[in-house]
Amino acid sequence: MPTQRLFERIDSIELQRVSKKYGSRYAVESLELTIEGGELLILIGPSGSGKTTTLRMINRMTKPDSGNILINGQDIMQLDPVRLRRNIGYVIQNIGLFPHMTIGENVGLVPKLEGWDEKRTNGRVRHLLDFVSLPPEQFIKRYPRQLSGGQQQRVGLARALAMDPPLLLMDEPFGALDPILRKQLQKEFLEIKKEIGRTIVFITHDIEEALRLGDRIAIMDNGRLVQVGAPEDLIFDPVNDLVSDIVDSERKFKHMDMLNVKDLMTPLDAKYILDGGMNACEAVEIMKDRDIDIGIVFENGMLAGKVEMINLLKCEDERPFLRDITKPMKVFALRDSVATALSEMKMSREHMAMVMNADTVCGILVSDEVLLKLI
Ligand code: ADP
Ligand code: MG
Repeated sequence: MPTQRLFERIDSIELQRVSKKYGSRYAVESLELTIEGGELLILIGPSGSGKTTTLRMINRMTKPDSGNILINGQDIMQLDPVRLRRNIGYVIQNIGLFPHMTIGENVGLVPKLEGWDEKRTNGRVRHLLDFVSLPPEQFIKRYPRQLSGGQQQRVGLARALAMDPPLLLMDEPFGALDPILRKQLQKEFLEIKKEIGRTIVFITHDIEEALRLGDRIAIMDNGRLVQVGAPEDLIFDPVNDLVSDIVDSERKFKHMDMLNVKDLMTPLDAKYILDGGMNACEAVEIMKDRDIDIGIVFENGMLAGKVEMINLLKCEDERPFLRDITKPMKVFALRDSVATALSEMKMSREHMAMVMNADTVCGILVSDEVLLKLI
């Protein structure tokens, strides 16, 4: 019998004072952490700091000694562990493909266990192999030992995605790969992440990987959560030396003081531009079409401010003109220092600012993009 889905999507995962001891030593101690639906949360920290234990407690491979873990408000200890795990994709470093099964059989294993017929399973397997850039006609019949490490890692990801799980747990998935392959897979993974929009908890020991991929980063040490925040939070406000050592702010971001906004801005893509005379309803349609959630409003060639999709949806009924509901945007000049701009943006919790030269728009400054250019 096919098992029913436990949840279609994740709204939140709450770890409430979760502890796990091995012998007399805490592997995880009183961990408080909320993972938001749709985010990619990175766990990073020294070896032995409790990252893997944390991940394994979320899919019930390890049982906490105390504390609760709630998914969408439901205590996971009340759920059937097998059903829970079928809703969670799990990817580890040495993915443990079954050596005597073909790639196709490995990826299709869980759908088959779920009672899918051969045709449906086969279709799904082909789709997934395509998705992870392993052409099915070439790979489906091969055995794991005939694949390189990077290819095996892709198969592991395809297998974890087989049942289209709303939650993915990944434990150093690219850890064993050489740097070039690793970058390649990170790039592809960012695409996958955009496309699937699911919640992902991702362990790495590589801070560059963390800054590149993470929406937020949680730093663990000695079984405890030291700090959790967006990359810029950790870079600008590290709570202690461990955090600044890990993000390596000294080395990586020192030269930021010498850079101007001009050096790191991006040209303003025309797709972001909306006209002030448009109403909220029209804007929502256009923004959906263009796949943007922030719009920059101009009227008669002058910058009026920005609008955000979430706010537009709220006022769709009244259909106000954009010019009446724009919010001011931070504006920087070409020669402003990047460090100052980023810290101002961080303080006002804005991710995008305009770069102008007198009245002329030169480009935009996007905080994540700037950080990626610096690492
Ligand atoms: P990390 O993934 O951050 O390297 P782990 O969560 O694997 O850390 O381990 C945290 C601590 O718990 C370590 O000291 C480790 O030795 C210990 N530990 C983890 N799993 C077990 C186990 N099954 N038995 C005994 N000790 C364990
Ligand atoms: Mg580990």
